[in-house]
Amino acid sequence: MSAPAPASAPASNFLRSIIDADLRGGLYKNRSWSGSPGDARAQAQGSPDPAAIRTRFPPEPNGYLHIGHAKSICLNFGLARDYGGVCHMRFDDTNPEKEEQEYVDSILDAVKWLGFGWDAHQRSHLFYASDYFDFMFEAAQYLISAGHAYVDGQAADEMRINRGTLTEPGKNSPWRDRPAEESRVLFDEMRDGKHVEGSLVLRAKIDMAAPNINLRDPAIYRIRKATHHRTGDKWSVYPMYTYAHPIEDALECITHSICTLEFEDQRPFYDWLLERLAEATTLADGRVVGGLLAKPLPHQYEFARLNLTYVMTSKRKLKQLVDEGIVNGWDDPRMPTIVGLRRRGYTPESIQLFCERIGVSKADSWIDYATLEIALRDDLDAKAARAMAVIDPLKLKLTNWADVFGAESHLEPCSAPVHPHHPERGQRRFNLANEVWVERDDFMELPAKGYHRLYPGNKVRLKYGYVIECTGCEKGDDGRVSAVLARLIPDTKSGTPGADSLKVKGVITWVALVDALSAEIHLYDRLFTDAHPDAGGKDFKASLNPDSLRVIRAFLEPSLAHAHADEKFQFERHGYFVADRIDHGPNKLVFNKATGLRDTWSK
Ligand code: ATP
Ligand code: MG
Repeated sequence: MSAPAPASAPASNFLRSIIDADLRGGLYKNRSWSGSPGDARAQAQGSPDPAAIRTRFPPEPNGYLHIGHAKSICLNFGLARDYGGVCHMRFDDTNPEKEEQEYVDSILDAVKWLGFGWDAHQRSHLFYASDYFDFMFEAAQYLISAGHAYVDGQAADEMRINRGTLTEPGKNSPWRDRPAEESRVLFDEMRDGKHVEGSLVLRAKIDMAAPNINLRDPAIYRIRKATHHRTGDKWSVYPMYTYAHPIEDALECITHSICTLEFEDQRPFYDWLLERLAEATTLADGRVVGGLLAKPLPHQYEFARLNLTYVMTSKRKLKQLVDEGIVNGWDDPRMPTIVGLRRRGYTPESIQLFCERIGVSKADSWIDYATLEIALRDDLDAKAARAMAVIDPLKLKLTNWADVFGAESHLEPCSAPVHPHHPERGQRRFNLANEVWVERDDFMELPAKGYHRLYPGNKVRLKYGYVIECTGCEKGDDGRVSAVLARLIPDTKSGTPGADSLKVKGVITWVALVDALSAEIHLYDRLFTDAHPDAGGKDFKASLNPDSLRVIRAFLEPSLAHAHADEKFQFERHGYFVADRIDHGPNKLVFNKATGLRDTWSK
């Protein structure tokens, strides 16, 4: 599976400049690759790497992917595509507690749906970090032997206190200089389940006075007696993310390891660890050991994560919305998850376009939600079939129908292009009849200034039909308008000679009662009223929008009878709608509003 090429040449950015320079300088020219992840020895037996660069997308399978991940996916898979490289799909599943197969499956679906794949050079590049647990453990044993790691027995809070602060150096652990052999034995016992959780940790031995706190002997392995979704109960120790991630990259011969800015301070440890594992060391007994990882080593680069106004991009917080029933599941169309956006009517192309437009930079910022909607409109405008829908229906009676057409029951055939710019897509057909549904706000008994639609004495065009003149209205017992009355003006039918000789200022959409399909419409609004719902540790539940979903009944033109699930339309004058992927069917029409025709978010 290969990703579609972008419509235009991608804009340059700092990562492309780095890759250009690396390739020009031949940095990655002489790499060998055995075809699968492996240590230095395995890779040395491989052939010259057919991939010019290797990137990776490494989600933790602890939730569904969201729009922030889409940025990372488009970036990593996009760079690999554009440079003749390969992007690895890797599950960073080193944390046993929160990970599930359901999430693994949904993540693979989301990446594929976005238009990317991991097959290249006749093989799959789908990898699981948990497959590297054996290597990670052996590498840790090696670090102990080489004097680069020790088992610490301090309590967690002692360790925290002794780590020091930004202004004060840390203090060495009393266990820091315990003999390597003793640490080896303890580490093996940790693996064998002989110690309780929290009693011991394995730490890298670097420098407790380092200005970068991440270099003050960071923990690299901890005891966790948890069942892992792939390795079961095999392990009682699990590697820390900061230890596991660089090793995963190196075993996979990643060249450019791209992550978000929070990891910038981890980069020195990333480099320290990989260099220690790649170098050769002479032990006290004269044996030369080490050289565990193939060179050149991967490099980490950081870019600014996506922050989108009115949206939370944290799997943990999105999970809370699902678990607490605030939304109807991960694929609720209000969710910024890939499955939610998909159900909302987003296309892979619109999300790719959005990611291309926002670009990548090294400075954190907020992207206006409108940017996402504009990308969707730009994509759907060119593709979506048009249709008429009446969303807040009011009946309109054409009182001279029988006089003009000879019978109340006469049906007058009308047609409209499926898409105004694609005549080859043909015509939609529907009838005009003596009674039609129009929008309630297309009538005002007492017109406001500048109002050009229906009011007594005014003429408007029924789009694709005739010009009519409003003559008045009927009211119910409650005083509310129950029907609009109008006369049809003969010889004004759209598309017939002379139809335009009568100029009108208003054109309104409509659906004849006899033709109308009844449909359920889901109107969505932003989920939060605060543009930064969770910024600075804010309680996002305080700004939930109570009107984020409104379910209404609407009338649709007959061409929509055969709309298939997931099909997108422009309902003229209203916006873009999608037939719901789950609930829509031939016997129950359900449409979700994807977005309006223009920006209403910034108002
Ligand atoms: P979350 O807090 O939502 O779980 P995460 O960063 O912990 O996010 P991972 O599954 O570890 O989620 O992320 C996989 C990849 O997606 C990482 O490389 C990460 O940098 C990237 N990513 C996650 N969120 C964003 C975001 N908002 N913008 C850009 N990239 C992101
Ligand atoms: Mg994470």
